[in-house]
Amino acid sequence: MQRLPALAALLCSLSACSVGGAPAGGGDAVATMSTLASITSAVVSPHLAVSSLVPVGASVENFQPRPQDVATLHAARLLVENGAGLETWLRDTIDGAKNPGLRIVDCTDGLPVEQQNPHLWMDPLYAKAYVARIAAGAALADPQHARDYAEAARRYDRQLDELDHWIRAQIAVIPPQRRTMIVFHNAWYYYAKRYGIQLIGVVERNPGQEPSAYELAKLVDLAKRHHVQAVFAEPQFSPKLVRQLARSANIRTVEDLYDDSVGDQPAVADYLSMMRYDTETIVKALTENTGRHA
Ligand SMILES: [Zn+2]
Repeated sequence: MQRLPALAALLCSLSACSVGGAPAGGGDAVATMSTLASITSAVVSPHLAVSSLVPVGASVENFQPRPQDVATLHAARLLVENGAGLETWLRDTIDGAKNPGLRIVDCTDGLPVEQQNPHLWMDPLYAKAYVARIAAGAALADPQHARDYAEAARRYDRQLDELDHWIRAQIAVIPPQRRTMIVFHNAWYYYAKRYGIQLIGVVERNPGQEPSAYELAKLVDLAKRHHVQAVFAEPQFSPKLVRQLARSANIRTVEDLYDDSVGDQPAVADYLSMMRYDTETIVKALTENTGRHA
């Protein structure tokens, strides 16, 4: 049984077929979104170049694939997707690419997805599981560099552990009764759960679907009752509803968290720095004295 894969690899090398049947010239890795591209790049660079289908600053949940995305997948060797229902548009793009050799990594495969929420990468310990799946997929797509991918994964794992410890220490600075957030989009479930932050509410429960006036009024009420300090949003979404809620509840807005997309500034341009920036931003917003809840 053990010999079959080795035999297949030998036959493959003897007949000079490309790894996994990828088309000639396609040696690259493609991630669905920039945050995943950053994690993937930490594992597969410099052997595979990594690109993202969803551009930096765009929403993965509302993404409309373009013809060039089909062409990108046609030429790719490795595709890294989050899965868990995040990339609803991806199946058609893969079908259109007609690339039977494309190795697909589903980062959340086998992970405990809760409340149908796909944003597991926002917990650095789940990000380690992503890294393991990416390294395994890269090793299958490009076996001659398998050891490098495993070594890079181990290195990045250590950085993720350091990140986890660092976030834990930062959040500890926030007085426990202030560890509450209202967020625009539901990317913070796993982060909040890992670090003991209470998510009081989500403005847009389903991507692209605005809350009713009743739901918004309920959020205002929750914000007041739980003495929520701030409502948090991301640059890729319109700030209108967040500002409306903040005005009504007399709380501040923070409009520059990053999660589905990294940012275009160096301080938020990769996964590790994004998580540090977000954490510093959250800690600042939840510890600043507003004079109202002192
Ligand atoms: Zn999202």
